[in-house]
Amino acid sequence: MMYDLLVTGCTLIAEAFATPIEDAAIGISGGRFVFVGPRSALPVGATAKETLEARGKLCIPGLVNVHTHTILCMVRGVAEDMGFAPAYTPGVPQGQMVTEEEAVALARLGALEAMLFGSTLINDTYVHTALTLPAMADLGLRVFSCNRIHDVSFSGIAHGRWEVDAKGGEARLAEAEALVQRFHGRSDARTGVQLAAHAPDTCTPDYLRRIGEMSRRLNVPVQAHLSQSKVEVAHIRERDGMTPPELLDSVGLLDNRLVAAHCIHLTESDIARVGAAGVHVAHIPKGNATGGTFAPTRALVRAGAKLCLATDNMHADMVEVMRWGLNMGRIQHGRVEDDWQPEHMLAAATLNGADAMGMGGELGAIREGYRADLVLLGLQRPHLVPHPDPLGTVVHNAHGRDVVHVVVEGEVVVRDGRPTRCDMEQVCAEGAKAAAALWARARAGA
Ligand SMILES: [Zn+2]
Repeated sequence: MMYDLLVTGCTLIAEAFATPIEDAAIGISGGRFVFVGPRSALPVGATAKETLEARGKLCIPGLVNVHTHTILCMVRGVAEDMGFAPAYTPGVPQGQMVTEEEAVALARLGALEAMLFGSTLINDTYVHTALTLPAMADLGLRVFSCNRIHDVSFSGIAHGRWEVDAKGGEARLAEAEALVQRFHGRSDARTGVQLAAHAPDTCTPDYLRRIGEMSRRLNVPVQAHLSQSKVEVAHIRERDGMTPPELLDSVGLLDNRLVAAHCIHLTESDIARVGAAGVHVAHIPKGNATGGTFAPTRALVRAGAKLCLATDNMHADMVEVMRWGLNMGRIQHGRVEDDWQPEHMLAAATLNGADAMGMGGELGAIREGYRADLVLLGLQRPHLVPHPDPLGTVVHNAHGRDVVHVVVEGEVVVRDGRPTRCDMEQVCAEGAKAAAALWARARAGA
């Protein structure tokens, strides 16, 4: 047996709720896992074109970040302290200001951060997607991406004006369909598209209905921001006489193919409705807490919603986000319980995320036959010693920067903490340059 890549010597948590295997071996060929088990069980005479010796490291499945806006790394460290979301915040660089070249530079910076921190798949939405999607995927991680689909103009929103832009709305639908044709359904699944209906308040009801129709026609799932802010909830109440989940239900979007980001401002009946529909909730615990809010994740999960994890914007550390998801859930019940443990957060960050992306059954676990995405975290630094329960130690104490190696589709895309396909310093320099130019224009009121 000759593997393309053989990972040896690590402690392996092959999937959420699996018992750790010490001194494991993982054989990969053709981009898929073909051997998973203790090294002692490797077939006699097994060899490999490439071997990754991983003693002292913990191997987990690749992390799936179901909701990001990589370009918005441009406002990090500032926008968190100004308002609840950059698109609704005046005085900071906005999507409509970003040039194509700046979009590519910033998207690569944000995607590189995500990949170095163990995300093997990100689901990203912003602007200039036809350029940023391949530019991000070129770094080595899987990138699902879509343009923001909306028929209400963003230019007035930061000032409290929701102005319909029907012509722009048509163009955005056409752009999304072209992206699906170009990037979705490839055999290696290194790229993909999930239709990104921006939010209930930035799409009119008829327009939302059409996005649903397009989703069914192209067989591509839908994502949306949902009940993210009190402003959105008040606007939908005024415009449509209902809550945001009621609106999505009325236009045929609230189902088990929807990935709904945030789900913060929900009524009791909203929670029951979202749960009964089996919606994938993209939970963004750190971002929400930064804005002084949290999603009722415990009630949502009990009602039937599927919990996924995401970083949204301005940071991309999915290792840290597992800790935030764990703790924000415990605060809601005021105690530690068996159904809200590190294993549940690993499931949310891997299997559930893969399922939300339409990749269930082939991503999210280190199982023979699955696509070969994995992450190796170093366990030898002081904050991770000792580690009698390695997953507990990682969820409570580790950070993305403890990620040492990352493998996507059987390819080593991060080795010893550095990307293998690009010059990290150059990506940082180009991203910083683009952000500086955007901030200069935003401050000048351009
Ligand atoms: Zn978002």
